[in-house]
Amino acid sequence: MSAAKSSTVLVIGAGGVSSVCVHKMAFNPDIFPEIHLASRTKSKCDAIAASVKERCGRDIATYEIDAEEVPAMVNLIRKTGAGLVVNLALPYQDLPIMDACLEASVDYLDTANYEPKDEAKFEYHWQWAYQDRYKDAGLMALLGSGFDPGVTSVFTMWLKKHKLKTIRQLDILDCNGGDHGQHFATNFNPEINIREVTAPARHWENGEWVETPAMSNKVAFDFEAVGQKNMYLMYHEELESLAKFVPELERARFWMTFGDQYITHLTVLQNVGMTSIEPVRYQGKDIIPLQFLAAVLPKPETLGETTKGNTNIGVIATGEALDGSGEKTFYIKNICSHEAAYEETGNQAVSYTTGVPAMIGAAMVVRGDWQGEGVFNIEQLDPDPFMAMLNAHGLPWTVEEMAGPVGF
Ligand code: NDP
Repeated sequence: MSAAKSSTVLVIGAGGVSSVCVHKMAFNPDIFPEIHLASRTKSKCDAIAASVKERCGRDIATYEIDAEEVPAMVNLIRKTGAGLVVNLALPYQDLPIMDACLEASVDYLDTANYEPKDEAKFEYHWQWAYQDRYKDAGLMALLGSGFDPGVTSVFTMWLKKHKLKTIRQLDILDCNGGDHGQHFATNFNPEINIREVTAPARHWENGEWVETPAMSNKVAFDFEAVGQKNMYLMYHEELESLAKFVPELERARFWMTFGDQYITHLTVLQNVGMTSIEPVRYQGKDIIPLQFLAAVLPKPETLGETTKGNTNIGVIATGEALDGSGEKTFYIKNICSHEAAYEETGNQAVSYTTGVPAMIGAAMVVRGDWQGEGVFNIEQLDPDPFMAMLNAHGLPWTVEEMAGPVGF
């Protein structure tokens, strides 16, 4: 990495996550002196730019782009003079955007791993395959700089650096205690969210993946600032990178809370075939039921105004204490208020808790706190500067010692 890289950023995508990230970048002109925003629908970029202008007076240049068109992306990157592309579109666009960054010779960052459109299979191997090309080009690709993946991975590595010599057991607990007042809505892109939730659960145990049916393993947990909620065992993409970069892990699991109303609606939609990604012939055209469903559900970026309550996302880790005092368990977490997130950026806390870490990851790259050549998961980088920025930029965290390992 040369110090002469441009600190200009180009953000791709104009949904809730992008909106938060662009606002937070704009609030930090010393780190992000120039911000460009491009997406499939330019009017959405313009709406974000107008909100930024109103809130802090800064101008954001906006463009229309289909990020799957590599030559057009390369032209846009060159036109903006960006040194880093922040991909906040959908996982389907990860590979073409990585290709465009290589060709235009700029760094890359995202918050979700690549997923082919025709198969609900989110895995890192497609992006890890870019390692040599990024390394040879002297470029950095930073993968998974959202909350989960992202902050949950950084939390784990911070515990490993400051509290635990080894981590034996890891549980990631993701609770959205917010109420948006809708019968059924997802807090981030509905298509991606439903593909994730309806996939079989998978966790890491004794060196292998253990698969169980979706939503079949439920535990009640009392979340601070939310109360008691049912959380369900799920597969989530950071488990793959954590199992790789924390090789001593005996068990790693991911849990997410869902209300009974959400589960009831999802079960009905699944039973009638509306969550399928197999094409269905309708009036002479092939349509994907899940894509049609996503089109009729509320857009995540419209939920901000009505959502009340908190998110509480954290990591419980058990392992051998660094100070030699035996086995210890720590719980590290962030609590985020939907109302406060909305007041600051016009978006609810699920977008906020993803958009802020995307901004922080971008800051790590443009400031040079994190430097490297190749493809990096966030677990591979020093957690300390990232953790400091979480505290300073709206996602403060706490860590506490627990009496013993989790009982579930
Ligand atoms: P949205 O659906 O609200 O926004 C996605 C944006 O990408 C839309 O503006 C969409 O355009 C744009 N887009 C889609 N296809 C293209 C394309 N071919 N070219 C250019 N732009 C395109 O999603 P969210 O903001 O909720 O989520 C954004 C990303 O963040 C997703 O990848 C999601 O998986 C990830 N995420 C990560 C989390 C984490 O903690 N790591 C948590 C939550 C989300 P249009 O407006 O025209 O539809």
